Amino acid sequence: MFHRGAPIRFGVRALLVLVAAGMLGGLASAQDETEAVASPRWAIAVHGGAGKWSREMPADQREAVERSLREALAAGQKILAAGGSALDAVETVVAMLEDDPQFNAGRGAVFTHAGTHELDAAIMDGATLRTGAVAGVTTVKNPVRAARLVMERSTHVLLVGAGADEFAVMNGCERVGQAYFFTSRRFRELEEVRAAAGLAPLGTPAYGLPDEQPGETQPVPEGAGGTVGCVALDADGRLAAATSTGGLTGKLPGRVGDAPICGAGTFADGRCAVSCTGQGEQFIRHGIARRVAWLVVERGLAVDEAARQCLEEVLQPGDGGLIAVDRAGRISMRATTVAMPRGAADSSGRFETAIWFDE
Ligand code: ASP
Repeated sequence: MFHRGAPIRFGVRALLVLVAAGMLGGLASAQDETEAVASPRWAIAVHGGAGKWSREMPADQREAVERSLREALAAGQKILAAGGSALDAVETVVAMLEDDPQFNAGRGAVFTHAGTHELDAAIMDGATLRTGAVAGVTTVKNPVRAARLVMERSTHVLLVGAGADEFAVMNGCERVGQAYFFTSRRFRELEEVRAAAGLAPLGTPAYGLPDEQPGETQPVPEGAGGTVGCVALDADGRLAAATSTGGLTGKLPGRVGDAPICGAGTFADGRCAVSCTGQGEQFIRHGIARRVAWLVVERGLAVDEAARQCLEEVLQPGDGGLIAVDRAGRISMRATTVAMPRGAADSSGRFETAIWFDE
């Protein structure tokens, strides 16, 4: 419904601009033209989770996080520069970060309270409002690929638990054992959370300690790297968003966060694409991803101002962050935490990554 309404609203706005241009001797139309020329043809942004990472992080670990972001961003950039779709770009970028044990998505996912992994992911195509998501999957190597399959090969938008795992594998997703997701750092974090809650240590994950720990073959920094997400605008003007996460350390088995909930942690329409990270319950309560897009479309706010309002005026300090891109290629990357590994690139030559906000 929304995507059908948008051109009408745009038409009204364009009419007003024309009237204003006539009244102001062409000034408004000249400004519009400048904006149109300056707009990038395509744009992409990525995040690796909002959080409170210490500035004491060793330089090599910091470099490892930024290298991963740069590689993922470059893969998305390549797709978009070649005329590929925003949907392919966001899926590829998120799947790469799922394979990277530094991030809390796919390999490297956090543990539930019970010492298991339950993964959530979503993808959304802004041009059609088609969307797909999986929640609580336990054996899917790349949950974002399963989410896309839900979108393209089912009539549903969200599959959960065993049914989602089965659907994913039946549709060609790679299946892995739970030990694939293991990292000792994440297990330590679970034991700390349990201890803080006065609970006895588990000693080992529910599936035992894996003999081989392929997720540990590269240094996994303490603290850094969380949920992953990507938003993109392609050269055909289509927007897309994707988010993938292991959720929150020590979550109750069965808990579902905001990432797979359309409009909470992930959303895209014809005007704006958004991927969120942080305290999922808060993002669900306030429908943050959808709210950012609503502020852009209905209130005419710039995407960065819409993001700021949601993070600073709707959510509580420290709740998290988000990335968003509008159909003019303007990118917002904000959080109310001290850090959010992130990156942005566009057709004008922009290519940047950062972790903290005060650097
Ligand atoms: N938003 C995710 C969740 O609540 C977690 C995160 O982004 O760190 O599941």
